[in-house]
Amino acid sequence: MITFLGRGSAFTNQHNSAYFTDGNDLVLLDCPMSSFTRLKEKDLGKYDHIYILVTHTHSDHTSGIAMLIDYCYFTVKTPVTVIAPSDAVYRDLLYSLKNLDGCSDDWYELIEAKDLGKSWLSEVIPTTHTEELSGKCFGYCLSIEGKTVVYTGDTSTLQPFLKCLKNGSFLYAETSAYKTKVHLFCEEIKDQISELVRNGVHVYLMHLDDEEYIKKVMEGTGAKLAPLDDDTMDNNGNMLNDIFNITDSLYKDMCMSSSKDHALLFSYLTELGKTIVNTDRASFWKWDKRKGELWTMSATGVDKIVMPDSTGLVGKSLRTKKIVITNDPYSDPDFNQNIDKQTGYVTKSVLVLPVADINGNFIGALQLINKNDEKGFDEEEDSKKLSLAALICGIALESETFLEDSHHDKLTGLKNRMGFYFDFNGKYKDYLLPDSGKIMSVFICDIDKFKRVNDTYGHNAGDDVLVFASHLVESTCGENDCVYRWGGEEFVMVMRDTDLEGAVKKAEEIRIKLMESDIDADGTTIRCTMSFGCARFDPHKSIEENISAADEKLYTAKETGRNKVCS
Ligand code: GH3
Ligand code: MG
Ligand code: MG
Repeated sequence: MITFLGRGSAFTNQHNSAYFTDGNDLVLLDCPMSSFTRLKEKDLGKYDHIYILVTHTHSDHTSGIAMLIDYCYFTVKTPVTVIAPSDAVYRDLLYSLKNLDGCSDDWYELIEAKDLGKSWLSEVIPTTHTEELSGKCFGYCLSIEGKTVVYTGDTSTLQPFLKCLKNGSFLYAETSAYKTKVHLFCEEIKDQISELVRNGVHVYLMHLDDEEYIKKVMEGTGAKLAPLDDDTMDNNGNMLNDIFNITDSLYKDMCMSSSKDHALLFSYLTELGKTIVNTDRASFWKWDKRKGELWTMSATGVDKIVMPDSTGLVGKSLRTKKIVITNDPYSDPDFNQNIDKQTGYVTKSVLVLPVADINGNFIGALQLINKNDEKGFDEEEDSKKLSLAALICGIALESETFLEDSHHDKLTGLKNRMGFYFDFNGKYKDYLLPDSGKIMSVFICDIDKFKRVNDTYGHNAGDDVLVFASHLVESTCGENDCVYRWGGEEFVMVMRDTDLEGAVKKAEEIRIKLMESDIDADGTTIRCTMSFGCARFDPHKSIEENISAADEKLYTAKETGRNKVCS
């Protein structure tokens, strides 16, 4: 709702001051000097306008105003409007700003709240403080994102604000640990605060002269300490919205998407990482330890990249099991300049965060890249920001690996029957529509007298024959074909945009190649043959009926002498 640059009293290091945004405008509630020093670290130039709502003129509430006006005038060129709650405060502010050297009249606008005309300012609420501030101390009732928000400023009573506080509204209340006549003493307002919380008011405490003590006293009331800025002013509200938007689109896209794989998830997670640390590019890498390769599961601005795991900063991060950060990549020997050379991109800073599976083994990495000189990475801050996205990436990558494994046969590396059905829900979907006009054919093949191989030469030899035959079948696959290990020594090939004649031709080609091959099976050279049953895919029939049609032809091939193709 609103965020605090500081929530302390006059005698603490960070004086009480908060802000909220309204579209492209920044609205500050008071502006002590400690707020100015924090504000100037922010990108104030990105706002169209800065408003300062003044509650009263004690110096710990207003001492940063002139500095901010100067700074905005000379540096970021953002116009500043100072808002006085009343005519009397207006005159006091005018007097002090006019009499300050180096804060010229035309560098700011001073306006009374009643003349402002902004929907976020609902009401100026007079309240009481010291005697000399009699009639000159105010709080505000605001309307932010459709919620009623009360900001008390300094006050000795909550009474004037109660009328605004309904179920669901927000109260930012001054609270003090020391009993004086001019502030809300925590021991005394405790019960009142509890009751407000019970009535559905979100209560946040500010102006804390002794935070620890107040926290202890207010324990159990349901009130919280006012939320501190934590250096994410540029991001806080916007970033939460960005994160929500990404998650929301991901969810919607996942529900809509016909391809039930992880690609969409990885692209959104990569986008999420990019948004959280506000970088120019991001990529997510999978580490294939068996092949010693790294490849991008998702990357902004580039096509899929595959590289050896011994190279690049991603490789370095996975080898060392550490976060890798460089704000000067071209002088890092591990930085792979080739990708920049190919894409014309000039990398200025890189952050690589290794991601792990649930057993803590590193299986991939998130890489973030900036091309802007001024945007360096901060190891502690950025890795904290990315931690949740990295955790989800790790789990998602692991689940993708499990899914991939479950679709493949370990011995031959071919897709198995689960992979077959998965493909029928995906890439063959169009071919199953009766009126699609698309054609597809299948064959099923089976090694002849394979039991004899096992019985004669042993199971290992049988395995070698299976691997050999599977590779042979796979090697004849065109880009529209896919082969599956259907069962023991049976394979199914699905050929898109291929008629029965084409399928028979392909089967025949494999049959002859296998028949003529010397197979090294566990140290012995053996030969074997295969029989084939082919069928054109009939979209009016189920997948099982289609495979059965091919299987019947295979049966005929077996019955009529083996080592042949029937259709
Ligand atoms: P047919 O020509 O009629 O197909 O005769 P066949 O001996 O090939 O058929 P059968 O169904 O009697 O035997 C198939 C054998 O395949 C039996 C089984 O042990 C073996 N087999 C199945 N899977 C594997 C495997 O992964 N490795 C090995 N080595 N053998 C396997
Ligand atoms: Mg057989
Ligand atoms: Mg068989």
